[in-house]
Amino acid sequence: MANAARGDCHRRTRRLKGLYTKMIYIDFHTHQVPVSQDVVAVVAGRDTWGVHPWDSLPQPLQGRGERLSFPSEKDLVEGGFLAIGECGLDALRGPSLERQEEVFVQHIALSEKTGKPLIIHCVKALDRLLRLRKALRPSMPWMLHGFRGKPQQLRSLLDAGLFVSFGHSHNAESIRLCPAERLMLETDDQTEHTIAEIYNNVAEKRGLDVAALCKVMAENYRAFFQKVPLLA
Ligand SMILES: [Zn+2]
Repeated sequence: MANAARGDCHRRTRRLKGLYTKMIYIDFHTHQVPVSQDVVAVVAGRDTWGVHPWDSLPQPLQGRGERLSFPSEKDLVEGGFLAIGECGLDALRGPSLERQEEVFVQHIALSEKTGKPLIIHCVKALDRLLRLRKALRPSMPWMLHGFRGKPQQLRSLLDAGLFVSFGHSHNAESIRLCPAERLMLETDDQTEHTIAEIYNNVAEKRGLDVAALCKVMAENYRAFFQKVPLLA
């Protein structure tokens, strides 16, 4: 499994090298393994490791023997994972936010210890997320996936230094306003719209051609996953 994951990593790197000559669509967060050769995808569970906030078991369940099991740092490093996540906070689903925060903080610690960036799911808990970030001052980059918020919320994420990933459903003004160097695109768990469709749609809204958008995404991929310092 570890070797297979490493193999995937090498294949991904080889294909990324072709980014400036061929149009490759990077899907920064998805739950499906892509079928198209034109897509490089960060697949949850294959390329990233995390416990979704919906699955952060409440304490009483843990008392009955169901425990969240975290892999060792060694397994995470050797497993070829690109990032920790998706993890985070969801005020509308899952156990109490207090319990979710406990599990999320464990992920933040793993991200810092293994030197891997964090992919975050956050629904109606932005203040709590930003409070945590301020208190813990992580050194690894964070990305909030599936962002649908308004420009005001976008601003608070950008001010805190996060990357922001948008899917098919997004606020049109936010997607125009997001600085190129913090923007990411994803399909997540929907299968109705391909990543190429999302790129086309976003390129049009930002007044860019798709090839230019692909180039921006390739730079952001390197910045996020390979620890190049933030541009902004
Ligand atoms: Zn997801």
